[in-house]
Amino acid sequence: MYLIGNGVILTSGDDNRLINDGAILIDGECIREVGDTQELKTRYPEAEYIEAWHRLVMPGFLNTHMHLYSTFSRGMALKGEPAKSFKEILEKLWFKLDRCLDTEEDIYYSAMVPLIEGIKCGTTGIIDHHASFGLVDGSLDILERAAEDAGVRSVLCYETSDRWGKDLSDASIRENVRFIKKKKDMNDLIKGTFGLHASLTLSDETLTRCRTEAETLGTGFHVHVAEGIEDVEDSMGKSGMRVVERLNSFGILGEKTLAVHCVHVDDSDIEILKNTGTMVIHNPESNMNNGVGAAPLLEFFKRGILTGIGTDGYTPSMLESVKTAYILPKLVYRDPRVGFEESRRMLFENNRKIFGRFYDRPVGVIEPGAYADIIILDYYPPTPLDANNYFGHVIFGMRDNQVNTTIVNGRILMRNHELTEIDEEKVMAKSQEVAKKFWEKMANA
Ligand SMILES: [Zn+2]
Repeated sequence: MYLIGNGVILTSGDDNRLINDGAILIDGECIREVGDTQELKTRYPEAEYIEAWHRLVMPGFLNTHMHLYSTFSRGMALKGEPAKSFKEILEKLWFKLDRCLDTEEDIYYSAMVPLIEGIKCGTTGIIDHHASFGLVDGSLDILERAAEDAGVRSVLCYETSDRWGKDLSDASIRENVRFIKKKKDMNDLIKGTFGLHASLTLSDETLTRCRTEAETLGTGFHVHVAEGIEDVEDSMGKSGMRVVERLNSFGILGEKTLAVHCVHVDDSDIEILKNTGTMVIHNPESNMNNGVGAAPLLEFFKRGILTGIGTDGYTPSMLESVKTAYILPKLVYRDPRVGFEESRRMLFENNRKIFGRFYDRPVGVIEPGAYADIIILDYYPPTPLDANNYFGHVIFGMRDNQVNTTIVNGRILMRNHELTEIDEEKVMAKSQEVAKKFWEKMANA
């Protein structure tokens, strides 16, 4: 049991408050009490005391769409002409990369790097989407071990796809089913859900099989939806239906399903997403990077769709991402009034509600009974800060390097900018070694 005291606490949650001289009592994996520092110190003299020195204390950031496996692409040169479309980006880079991930070390170190970087920029929870077609069976266990070693809350899945033939498609379904069963009914830091790549690499037969398996397991899906226009064209060609319509016809959508991107969706698609209660995940930086367009964010909000924000492997930093989410709609809609409230809600309200669909206790809020997933920032506001204007401080004042302390599930992962359990230099050096061999595999692929 320990007490974080003398902090400026932003509780977030439905009853968002800012508590000056606030304290948080942490007992095991959860928050037990939130209140005044002197009062809690007097009542719990036995609790270890952590001095926050008027720093800002808030819930850790949550990333609702990530690809931990994408790390080794960093700085990698690609053969041939640059990819000129989203489809070519997939074929020239990602499909090759996931096929070359074929050792335990490849998977473990490519995951550890962004997990560590995430801790350093305040990311306490990740919903990941994994692919390693060179090593499918047991790959989620390797990822689980990395997430446990790092100590980061994670929801894992394997991206089922028919792009490498029937055997690997079968293996990816098997891996999802095995892992979901393993994690089921465990009140655990790491959870499982069912991964699907995207409509454009999934046959009718595979979608039917996945739906049957997921129904038996009581789980939803984590799937890319209409990210590039190619996905829509493929779906129209295969079925005469748009992507959302096609996935819905196979029972893939619903309250437990994360529909990632939804860039190329029309009014009828948005209607289906709304009526099925599907969660939509916005990844602004990734969409810009791939040149696929911008999702109709304001329409999602107008229709009341639960829309979260993820990074899609582009960055481990949620602060970086939310700043882009804030500014992009202003450009897209040619309107300086939009973007502020939507980006605030995605990061602070919707991502927490989305995690809430996977965990038993509240995540992303500082209140008694919630998981103790907390960050402390060296942020000393130069202008008044309160529960109503805090997001202006987030956008214009907060930076990754201000994250001083990161706590997940009550475990202190970083304190005073120092990782408490992981030797970062050692992990990065080992990652270099593994990445070098990996690049050789890619060059010959
Ligand atoms: Zn993605």
